[in-house]
Amino acid sequence: MKISKAEALAGLQKMFGDAVITEKAAIEDYDGANDTFPKAYGLFTAPQPICIVNAKSTEDVSKALKYCNDNGIVVIPRTGMSSYEGLLTGLTDEMIVLDGSAMNKVLETDFSNMMVTCQCGVPLDTLEKSLKEKGYTTGHSPQSLPLAQIGGLVATRSIGQFSTYYGAIEDLICGLEAVMPDGRILRIRNVPRRSAGPDLRHLFMGSEGGLAFITEVTLKLFHYYPDSFYKAGFIVPSMEEGFECIRKIVTAGYRPSVVRLYDKADYEYNYGTGVNLGDNEAYMFFVAEGPASIAKATGEAIDQFAKEAKARPLGSAGVEHWLIHRNDLCNLFKNPQVDEFLRNTPIFYATTEISSSYTDIMPIYRGVMENVPKKVPNLVMLGGHASHAYQNGINVYFVYQFKGSDPKIFPAEYQAIIDAICEEVLKLPTGGCVHHHGMGKQRVKFAPQEHGSSYFLMDKIKEMMDPNRIMNPGVLVAGK
Ligand SMILES: Cc1cc2nc3c(=O)[nH]c(=O)nc-3n(C[C@H](O)[C@H](O)[C@H](O)COP(=O)(O)OP(=O)(O)OC[C@H]3O[C@@H](n4cnc5c(N)ncnc54)[C@H](O)[C@@H]3O)c2cc1C
Repeated sequence: MKISKAEALAGLQKMFGDAVITEKAAIEDYDGANDTFPKAYGLFTAPQPICIVNAKSTEDVSKALKYCNDNGIVVIPRTGMSSYEGLLTGLTDEMIVLDGSAMNKVLETDFSNMMVTCQCGVPLDTLEKSLKEKGYTTGHSPQSLPLAQIGGLVATRSIGQFSTYYGAIEDLICGLEAVMPDGRILRIRNVPRRSAGPDLRHLFMGSEGGLAFITEVTLKLFHYYPDSFYKAGFIVPSMEEGFECIRKIVTAGYRPSVVRLYDKADYEYNYGTGVNLGDNEAYMFFVAEGPASIAKATGEAIDQFAKEAKARPLGSAGVEHWLIHRNDLCNLFKNPQVDEFLRNTPIFYATTEISSSYTDIMPIYRGVMENVPKKVPNLVMLGGHASHAYQNGINVYFVYQFKGSDPKIFPAEYQAIIDAICEEVLKLPTGGCVHHHGMGKQRVKFAPQEHGSSYFLMDKIKEMMDPNRIMNPGVLVAGK
């Protein structure tokens, strides 16, 4: 940093006045969902930013970035604060948080060309509610729907729970506006498709705040058909048979919107005791939607494939329950009762999401179930579910609880579980150790293995877009 922290603060206050926040509670909690366990004990071990700057326009973002770039001040871009994986946690106190959540306007809705253009701080939930009232949807509905905002959703390459029909964020983005670290503003126009070299939109999707600040995004729209939903749950004899049933449905060409397969441990943790699963049995359920004829045909095919898989039909009650409660976890976010619980019962729940081909998913699942508990003795629960299916493979969300021994060493204990899972996943040729939460600082150490011989390009992209390395250092490229 070329100036002192006091000079940096004074310079930013001169430019942005009361949009510069230095209040203790806001500074301590600047990285949101990260380190909730030590935070419950009042421990704030991560480096703290000099201040938070609330940008109100693209011009504000440009001015702030240029100032920080000229003076060597690290910038953590931020919107909804719902990310994990150390994405928002800085590695130095010579940093500011540049928050885009006040940029919360829906700028244009075009129902002829099925596009909506939003500023980065538009809460997805607000957007979806207003679209659904008019019979439309973006189709993007992550579990963090009540928390996440457009900028963060793009920067993490997020995925929604209805992705098998609508696609993930990369399938939904038409164009965007972003600001480079030197303050330059750029726009990628909303062309339906182009064959004009590599697709520049992808430099921003999944950029994790490490390359540029995303200010506006144009997303695709879909008609919303709430009356034609097909919903059905089944018990399958095993996870293996569940994966195979899903593979057959999806590769045959059917696109249910929701595809989920839970093992016993995950089901019991997340659902309680609605259904008594045998030790090897798994709970599988589907939603199909779209125009009535498509939803009906998809539902009929699912019923047929499930029958062939000897799955026992359970009707739609479990799915209805899931549809109502699927975002409830967000109520635990910034919840004093959770802090109280963690202080009394130091058992922490977390997830790690991975993916692979259909061939490799069972070896990965088995490897994690067998080997992770051997490496991590303080595990209390370990299970998993699949929730996003593709033509060429599927994801698994490993869910676990572990007993934290001491809030001070919690980050290391949590990291040990993430490491153990990623190591298992990367043993398989198609194993990918980051499905949709981003690498952050917790998984970036696996980036060289994840990307293999193409990894050097990540470093080159970082160098080209952020030569002074001020943008969220420690994401995308290990140690940078
Ligand atoms: C209960 C819960 C459930 C979740 N479920 C899902 C799920 O189903 N699917 C899923 O994909 N994720 C899920 N997540 C993770 C998280 O919600 C997503 O990663 C989300 O995309 C983060 O958006 P945000 O607005 O909160 O971003 P933030 O947390 O504010 O930021 C996330 C990252 O994006 C960068 N960033 C933020 N804004 C910008 C910007 N304007 N320009 C450039 N970079 C920026 C930040 O630097 C950071 O690296 C869940 C999280 C929680 C807490």
